[in-house]
Amino acid sequence: MKKVVKFGGSSLASAEQFKKVGDIIRKDPSRRYVVPSAPGKRFSDDTKVTDMLYSCYAAAVKEKKFTELLDKIKERYQEIIDGLGLDFSLDEDFDIIRVNFSKKIGRDYAASRGEYLNGKVMAAYLGFEFVDAAEVIRFNDDGTFNDVLTNELLSARLADMENAVIPGFYGAKEDGTVVTFSRGGSDVSGSLVALAVNADLYENWTDVSGFLIADPRIVKKPKSIETITYKELRELSYMGASVLHEDAIFPVRKAGIPINIKNTNAPQDKGTLIVEGTCRQSKYTITGIAGTDGFVAITIEKAMMNSEIGFCRKVLQVFEENNVSIEHMPSGIDTMTIFVHKDVFEEKEQKILAEIHKAVNPDHIELESDLALIAIVGRGMKSTRGTAGRIFSALAHAHINVKMIDQGSSELNIIVGVRHDDFKNAIRALYEIFVVTQI
Ligand code: ASP
Repeated sequence: MKKVVKFGGSSLASAEQFKKVGDIIRKDPSRRYVVPSAPGKRFSDDTKVTDMLYSCYAAAVKEKKFTELLDKIKERYQEIIDGLGLDFSLDEDFDIIRVNFSKKIGRDYAASRGEYLNGKVMAAYLGFEFVDAAEVIRFNDDGTFNDVLTNELLSARLADMENAVIPGFYGAKEDGTVVTFSRGGSDVSGSLVALAVNADLYENWTDVSGFLIADPRIVKKPKSIETITYKELRELSYMGASVLHEDAIFPVRKAGIPINIKNTNAPQDKGTLIVEGTCRQSKYTITGIAGTDGFVAITIEKAMMNSEIGFCRKVLQVFEENNVSIEHMPSGIDTMTIFVHKDVFEEKEQKILAEIHKAVNPDHIELESDLALIAIVGRGMKSTRGTAGRIFSALAHAHINVKMIDQGSSELNIIVGVRHDDFKNAIRALYEIFVVTQI
């Protein structure tokens, strides 16, 4: 058994957290490759080291004094080193960083130092070898990620290593220029390491016991999801649920490596297992509920629309040419409705409407803003009758008017559109019927 373990910022924010991580790794010798994030927040209004680095570098670029801020960052690491009782120093590394900041070497380099330094501390603490991600995670000259070369470099480098610490979030171009993934990108690094060593499991350790069935800011203490498929996860994250960086899924999914989301502060909890396929039934008919606010619906009406060949294409082309992405498109016999994000659509609204008029000469166009979309996702829906019925009766009981319904042909999800004011109540009503009362 070979596991890759990635620890998020809150799991490594202090010496105390580091100790929990050390215990977790030592408890299971198959946890051989460790991918750390930079130290995160120790308390709710603390600042993540990555954000401190961005600010510090911004000051350096503006030729402002930055050494004080850099010293503050150094203190964060020193506190961890002292708390762990390590005989280890980052003095030389900070000297190099100071020089590179004055040379304005790059914003990505600056941000990446959070993971780089934390990786060094982690390697010293565990007695594992340190592998600089700049040497094994490769970006092309145009800044895009090179998955093929990365996999070659990483697997060759780790092939004979029993254990290693590989910092998350960054890599480099051939010439050594450091490039980072987008924020939260250590999840992606962990996934790449898991693929390269052909791990049996990718454990992603964070501060929650896996994915929750619904957003805890809306539903009080929602239950967590034990097993979820990649497809279900994709549907839920598309609708706004977030725990894992979206790009972290692709490398491991390709290799059939499951991801286990675990909680550093409650390692005994099972967490959520993300798999390609499973015969395990989910506990409830649904796996999760997620939603996003801030949509506009544009309904285009024209008699005999259905027999007018090319009608949809012409309408869609208007959106394409205005660079507006379409989220959903339910249609009726003489109507088609297009859901778009309000903030993108708003500024181009009049231009788009004029162009639709010109393109298809509709009888009527109606706009409705302040809409929210809610996805009810679950592999179990396929084999259960009456799911849609339960959804609508739950919403009707909660006096919520459904503005739109969309069921994908995969029967993996049902999406409903509701007014912004009903958004939270709708999610609560759905959680109640599928998870709490289960009627
Ligand atoms: N430290 C980086 C961030 O704050 C990357 C990560 O934690 O995954 O986004």
